[in-house]
Amino acid sequence: MELLTNRATRRIALRMTALPLIAGVELGGTKCICILATGPDDIRDEVRIPTTTPDETLGAIEATLAKWQDFAAIGIASFGPVSLDREADDYGRITATTKPGWSNTDVAGRIGKRFGVPLGFDSDVNGAALGEGAWGAAADVADHAYVTVGTGIGVGLVLHDEPVAGLSHAELGHIRPARTPGDDWPGSCVFHGACAEGLASGTAIKARTGISADDLAEDDPAWDLVAEALAQMLHMVTLTGIPRRIVMGGGVMVGCPFLFDPVRAKLARSLGGYGALPHLDRMTDFIVPAKLGGDAGPLGAIVLGRRALDCADRTPFTTP
Ligand code: ZN
Repeated sequence: MELLTNRATRRIALRMTALPLIAGVELGGTKCICILATGPDDIRDEVRIPTTTPDETLGAIEATLAKWQDFAAIGIASFGPVSLDREADDYGRITATTKPGWSNTDVAGRIGKRFGVPLGFDSDVNGAALGEGAWGAAADVADHAYVTVGTGIGVGLVLHDEPVAGLSHAELGHIRPARTPGDDWPGSCVFHGACAEGLASGTAIKARTGISADDLAEDDPAWDLVAEALAQMLHMVTLTGIPRRIVMGGGVMVGCPFLFDPVRAKLARSLGGYGALPHLDRMTDFIVPAKLGGDAGPLGAIVLGRRALDCADRTPFTTP
């Protein structure tokens, strides 16, 4: 008899039972998207809320959820950094963020205690990774990375269908790529200068060229430097997580799809045909565009809610 993977077993279980209704919240740095859904084919409501102050924004999210009422669990995918250590006093909080007023904000505790249902909490990038894994470009593999290249760069790793987190989530957007010879631009990251985010994010592209990524000509020489930094970061992601696929999304990748081919070529060159990883021979299947677009985050929050429901005894926020 064919052995079933965990993912296949879970899918069969989901087909056999009615899917639970989940309240999913993508808490972003500029806006929040709240959806009431069982999955992408059954979204009952969607509410967008601007991210302003913690009290105002979390209050508006609570009001939205209170109106919905009949959900079995809540999933929250939040901008970070966030604490993901369930044993820590600050679990479920946004920790030391550069967004003014939001450092040390208790997100999961406040909302979880208010509604008294199982609550799943993770970073926005891990959430999007779970969304792409459930219904998007990585739905057929159990090990993948999701890379968002937008205002910043984030990497969510899902291995054996589990989002990877230690004390907190991975911060692979801040690794230091090998520099392109002759390029000594200092980079835009306020912490590291020329880390991957400081060289290849939308913020970095604008800082280096004075032109936003969307408006920068496709033949501008800056793109080669951007692609090189991304390929160097993906070299690290490829060899640390050993993902079967890397899904790339975010404003820069969506707006500038011509980046995919040079990134694939530079990654292949950087890896040098390392023989233990034969799936890398099919680079167009290994580095792929995200499928869910802007829905990856809120749908990822639905996955987080489902996962919390599956292991309700582990969630610390079940007492109203
Ligand atoms: Zn950095």
